Amino acid sequence: MTRKLFVTTALPYANANFHIGHIMEYTQADVWVRYQRMQGQQVHFVCADDAHGAPIMIAAEKAGITPQQFVANIAAGRKAYLDGFHIAFDNWHSTDGPENHELSKEVYKALRRNELIEVKTIEQFFDPEKSMFLPDRFIKGECPKCGAKDQYGDSCESCGAVYTPTELKNPFSVLTGATPVMKSSEHYFFKLSDPRCVEFLEQWTQTPGRLQSEVLNKIKEWFTKDEEGKGGLGDWDISRDAPYFGIEIPDAPGKYFYVWLDAPIGYLASLKNYFGKTGQDFDAFMADESVEQVHFIGKDITYFHTLFWPAMLHFSGRKTPNHVFVHGFLTVNNGEKMSKSRGTGLDPLKYLNLGMNAEWLRYYISAKLNSRVEDIDFNPDDFVARVNSDLVGKYVNIASRAAGFLAKRFDGRLSADLGVEGRALLDGLRAHSATIAQLYEEREFGKALRETMMLADRVNEFVDQNKPWELAKQEGQDAVLHDVCSVCIEAFRLLTIYLKPVLPALAAKVEQFLRIEPLQFADSARALGAHQIGAYEHLMQRVDPKLLEALFEAPAAAAPAKALPGGEALAEEIKIDDFTKVDLRIAKIVKAEHVDGSDKLLRLSLDVGEGRLRNVFSGIKSAYKPEDLEGKLTVMVANLAPRKMKFGISEGMVLAASHADEKANPGIFVLEPFPGAQPGMRVR
Ligand SMILES: [Zn+2]
Repeated sequence: MTRKLFVTTALPYANANFHIGHIMEYTQADVWVRYQRMQGQQVHFVCADDAHGAPIMIAAEKAGITPQQFVANIAAGRKAYLDGFHIAFDNWHSTDGPENHELSKEVYKALRRNELIEVKTIEQFFDPEKSMFLPDRFIKGECPKCGAKDQYGDSCESCGAVYTPTELKNPFSVLTGATPVMKSSEHYFFKLSDPRCVEFLEQWTQTPGRLQSEVLNKIKEWFTKDEEGKGGLGDWDISRDAPYFGIEIPDAPGKYFYVWLDAPIGYLASLKNYFGKTGQDFDAFMADESVEQVHFIGKDITYFHTLFWPAMLHFSGRKTPNHVFVHGFLTVNNGEKMSKSRGTGLDPLKYLNLGMNAEWLRYYISAKLNSRVEDIDFNPDDFVARVNSDLVGKYVNIASRAAGFLAKRFDGRLSADLGVEGRALLDGLRAHSATIAQLYEEREFGKALRETMMLADRVNEFVDQNKPWELAKQEGQDAVLHDVCSVCIEAFRLLTIYLKPVLPALAAKVEQFLRIEPLQFADSARALGAHQIGAYEHLMQRVDPKLLEALFEAPAAAAPAKALPGGEALAEEIKIDDFTKVDLRIAKIVKAEHVDGSDKLLRLSLDVGEGRLRNVFSGIKSAYKPEDLEGKLTVMVANLAPRKMKFGISEGMVLAASHADEKANPGIFVLEPFPGAQPGMRVR
């Protein structure tokens, strides 16, 4: 029976372009979806921009545009990434779309009817300088659970704890650096602590096969109360006070849904929008019990997707997810984390703009992925070695070794006989079809690819033993040569089936070369027979390691040329284009702190009008006290590639003047703009 699958990836927050962590998640889901489609399953694969919330509202305000326009600008940039990496979503929508406004209100009203919404007056952090209640992400401080510094008000990136901002130690406003004050306000809560919710979630989370075992273990911790009865599932604050960019709560003027309430509903809204465009019945589809709802997410949002989300759906009378597939983070080489809010390192758009083949990255990521919640590491040397050895050396090579002889000597027509040894080899390859399919189904992509490469090794051994290049020179060996080369092409076709979920564009080229219909998984059971293939054209290039250098290269520094009298040599002459490559911005120093263990550096939290703060380490400790810098404006290089330093990641550079010989002429002078400049303005 055909499965009906509704598959999503997490909705990216629409305040920035994609980083490599997004591309990893989309690749994982896309490979799984393509595999399902190759099995003939019906799949609806959708995503959307997560458009609401205070960070976008504030960033739009700073940019002088409406939040809607701000989100539209970000959304316009999505296509280049998705097309570039062959991510085949059926639909891309926005949580600010009318479907989501409508669905979110429906869900809320149903929860209210079920007496799971409660209004409580709470004390909340208020920024006295900005005159607004501070959203969780605009308060930072120390994690109440593990003590990690510089954590957001809603959850800890270090230990994964979820808490309220008032639990943070030493809190400060990210907007102004002010210490927030407490102010009371009426808030709406979803009663997750209600015994009905607890009972439902215990049953839902423990349904066999629904969640990964590591995820289940984590959830058990969240359910557990301590000896004093503390902990366990807490009620969830789902409202925010105006000003807020979001969906207004019915019958509650000036109150909006917290962005995390309407964000997952955006999965349904995107599907509904897609069905509207294609004339399908959304309500009937979602009421169909055979539909499997599957969410791919990162481990940092497990709590929202395995507790709040199923409870919201269940108690509003809707279908709950069949699976929530959680993955780890992607780190680049040095263990640097790619989280939702701090993507750095490998810029996916730069990757594409350098002309690097998207399928190299799809292959590399897939080869590292498994079904567990493990972080995976991008290592440039490993990337070059794996792509060149597996894809080019083992796989593509099989076709290139056989195709020429077939074209020249046999008019591209395959032998139907193939010989005893050849048939045995191909039967062996076919016998792995079910195993490889099962590995794709279970998201064990690394194992599926290893299995496939092991089969490619067998084919290459067959080629090395039979030596077609020697057979071609021998008299009377035409039939053997024909069989050997035909076996290679048939084996190549089988390997292409096994690789197609990961390498869709390459598979399309192979289908053209072999003159066959788009390959399905079931095609592994068939044989080409005396089929005529097309001309072989080069299928994939090797990775040039220089490309990796370029990918991670920071902007080059110019060499000094002419000496100035009594001063430092003047740098080499540049063109205006060289200058405009450097994006200088006015930055507000929101916070300045000493760095433990460094006698040179200060750690600066800089506001460059992005709705978040940059972390920058600056070697100015000898010249400034932190308190002298806080609240001042300066100039920073805002497009400098982030650098991993001993004390953390530095996301830019502050401009300062100094003498060439600092020992003889000490003094460092941070630049400050004339009055009137605003954070985020470009310096040109
Ligand atoms: Zn923590």
